[in-house]
Amino acid sequence: MKAVRLVEVGKPLEEADVPIPEIGSSDVLIRVVAAGICHSDTHYRGGISKIDRLPRTLGHEVAGHVERVGRDVTNVLPRDRVCVHYLVHCGTCEFCARGLEQFCRSGQMIGKHRDGGYAEFIKVPAQNAFTLPDEISFEVGAVMMCSAATALHALKKARLKPGESLAIFGFGGLGFSALQLARVFECGDVYAVDINPAKLRSAEKMGAIAIDAKAADPVEQIKERTDGRGVGVALELLGSAKTMRQAVLCLSPLGRAALVGLTPESMSIHPYTELINKEAEIIGVSDHLATELPALIEFVRNGKLRFPPETLRVVGLDAAQINVALDSLQDSIDHFRTVIVPSSEK
Ligand SMILES: [Zn+2]
Ligand SMILES: [Zn+2]
Repeated sequence: MKAVRLVEVGKPLEEADVPIPEIGSSDVLIRVVAAGICHSDTHYRGGISKIDRLPRTLGHEVAGHVERVGRDVTNVLPRDRVCVHYLVHCGTCEFCARGLEQFCRSGQMIGKHRDGGYAEFIKVPAQNAFTLPDEISFEVGAVMMCSAATALHALKKARLKPGESLAIFGFGGLGFSALQLARVFECGDVYAVDINPAKLRSAEKMGAIAIDAKAADPVEQIKERTDGRGVGVALELLGSAKTMRQAVLCLSPLGRAALVGLTPESMSIHPYTELINKEAEIIGVSDHLATELPALIEFVRNGKLRFPPETLRVVGLDAAQINVALDSLQDSIDHFRTVIVPSSEK
């Protein structure tokens, strides 16, 4: 089969002819219909996130048809439409037993530790295959399994309650989903903080209050608009120490700041005045959980979480096209997502 693989860090991905994966008794073989090109794939290609063994087929946002199932598989059948949970876990360790597979001691990320979906076929454990309802396109089924799933996990970790106000720092793909999902939780006012005019306009169009962090201190702007109270929940989606600190400072008493963005920087907080006095909480958010995915799929099926078709671009399973998409993602400022559709080049 054809696969597009990372062969050498810092170099363009390459096309390869590789064997169709052999499946074990608890695996499924999926014919890939759509695979999302994600920002983290640019990090793998650029060496910012290290992949231990190369070559590796990238792609952790995958949807397709089940082609074959192992003899012990009961949750899906051949020809079923499915989308893929990207974290492969043992299912038996102390964390997996508690439904916390993101801490699994032998956890593997699809498209990083094992071959991913930039290929005609992918092998995954059956427990990673989730039925994709007919109402959801394969393209959406692929992209919703990464940033949208993590946005949902962040809101759950932050325990957003009905009526609570929310500040979103960074209105990219995660923010786009977080805003829509916060509405599902019946949130109060949502403040979208960014410096990019296009993203601020998009947030405003979706009903958020746009906070231009270039115009003035976003914490002051949020305080001003909330009569000095601040917000109940703040999500930091950018990965910068500065905005993480702002996310904490804009909280009301008992507020929760959920930190999702990654950064090697450290941040400073004055514990007494900025945290203890308010009984505020800082919460780390990592990936998402298999148990959260059925609800996410249902929100997309019933239209509460939408990925408008005009925001999705399609390329074939073609190394040149995929490399161009990765290049443009590196300095992207819009909400567009590129999806590989292997059949589109025929
Ligand atoms: Zn992703
Ligand atoms: Zn485990």
